[in-house]
Amino acid sequence: MARTVNHLSDAEIALVKESSLLVGRTLAEVARHIRPGVSTLELDTIAESFIRDHGGVPAFKGYNGFAGSLCTSVNDQVVHGIPNEVPLPEGSIVSVDCGVKMNGFHGDSAYTFVIGEVPEEVRMLLRTTQECLILGIAQAVDGNRIGDIGHAVQQHAEAHGYGVVRELVGHGIGRELHEAPEVPNYGRRGHGIRLREGMALAIEPMVNLGTREVRQLDDGWTIITHDGRPSAHFEHTVAVRKERAEVLSTFSYIEDVLKERNMWYAGMKEEVNND
Ligand code: MG
Ligand code: MG
Repeated sequence: MARTVNHLSDAEIALVKESSLLVGRTLAEVARHIRPGVSTLELDTIAESFIRDHGGVPAFKGYNGFAGSLCTSVNDQVVHGIPNEVPLPEGSIVSVDCGVKMNGFHGDSAYTFVIGEVPEEVRMLLRTTQECLILGIAQAVDGNRIGDIGHAVQQHAEAHGYGVVRELVGHGIGRELHEAPEVPNYGRRGHGIRLREGMALAIEPMVNLGTREVRQLDDGWTIITHDGRPSAHFEHTVAVRKERAEVLSTFSYIEDVLKERNMWYAGMKEEVNND
């Protein structure tokens, strides 16, 4: 990862946003096709065609030799799962992570889907991880420090007893998919580099239902939880701004599809359960 933190012009941020919105629309296309029995390789093929049909290039494909256009991480897989032919089982969760390069700039976003019915403790994990993302984004304002983001994420996840993955982190983004700075999901308030307007960051909490320990599979990519319990992952690309972060990617296309399909999703408005 390059050490220099890039500050983008508004015109450049607009290009990051275009790429990020294409990621959101691609994930919505995934949302249209995701169901028990579909394979992550089928989803990957759909995503790659969609990206190319809309003038983008799948940023993950060929990245350090990665095979897919998506990272698809099922259940205890945290991130970097390689799309394969295994049918998605009913009752599983899958993090789908997607990157696009277009007009020289990248967008990166991830969403964790549920396949059929999952236990309430898993739905709670997904909701909380998405809340962690929102709380982290709220810290991405000019004058704050990188540790403020990680602190907000960690605090919220650990308050629920979850494990926050430390070995993998968010990142700067722009002309490269992964740029400086690293954006950890843990940290100390007021520590780390200072955030300045025009920095583009991919913030991506990875939160485990069990402990925070992870390991890598022999495939050289897939990260799984050490205890075999499920893990959730949500990611947005954002721009640091003066008053509040500008979220450049979006889940709204995805959630419109899930709503239409009557599928449960982490950001849905639900009755508050007080029991
Ligand atoms: Mg990503
Ligand atoms: Mg990322």
